[in-house]
Amino acid sequence: MRDRLVVGNWKMNGDRASNARRFDALAAGWRARPGRAIAVCVPFPYLAQASERLEGSAVTWGAQDVSEHASGAHTGEVSASMVAEFGSRYAIVGHSERRQSHAESDALVAAKARAALGAGLVPIVCVGETLAEREAGTTGAVVERQIGAVIAGLGAAMARCVVAYEPVWAIGTGRTASPEQAQEVHALLRARLGKAGAGEVALLYGGSVKAANAAALFGMADVDGGLVGGASLDTDELMAIGAA
Ligand code: PEP
Repeated sequence: MRDRLVVGNWKMNGDRASNARRFDALAAGWRARPGRAIAVCVPFPYLAQASERLEGSAVTWGAQDVSEHASGAHTGEVSASMVAEFGSRYAIVGHSERRQSHAESDALVAAKARAALGAGLVPIVCVGETLAEREAGTTGAVVERQIGAVIAGLGAAMARCVVAYEPVWAIGTGRTASPEQAQEVHALLRARLGKAGAGEVALLYGGSVKAANAAALFGMADVDGGLVGGASLDTDELMAIGAA
């Protein structure tokens, strides 16, 4: 049985005062328990605050992106080693908001995953189809293409990643994939990853996860936890999802 992992993606939300309240609530409220883990991925400027407030707690933290470059003339970029310096465990790569708003390609996502691994971070590689792609019946082809690019870029190191299936139509919309819809895609991803020797990676579902639907989603055979956006800003809700 694989461990349960729930990762909050705070997106571009928060400030020092509200973060302090959230970090402290998580540090005080989430007790280490076997087979269950919680992490939060915060905006870059708050990684130091995460490290100050969460160090020594059962909650880990990370970033929402990293540069594919190690260093140099890349104004505005943040390298994986910089993220790692603040005690981070995770870096989300290939979130659909970045694929869409920043035109991130499959190849770039693979390069970012490689950079994250190189700095000792665990990349959380996001894949998922748009509503138009689902309605066109191409969900399987889309996620296979997306994960295939990362497998091609990483090889055996794919086994050191986390993968998040996040149907774009379910992100921030309040519209959740049914447990069966999630399982169908997770099974496909598990099979593809298995062929690459990475069949045991944690496969998270993301898209309007909340405490009310988490248990049903996480009850599916290939759903190992969740990547949680909006609901993760409410720390009680995030911990309830982690305990689901
Ligand atoms: C996300 O941003 O990764 C996400 C899943 O968002 P939400 O939970 O708000 O749909």
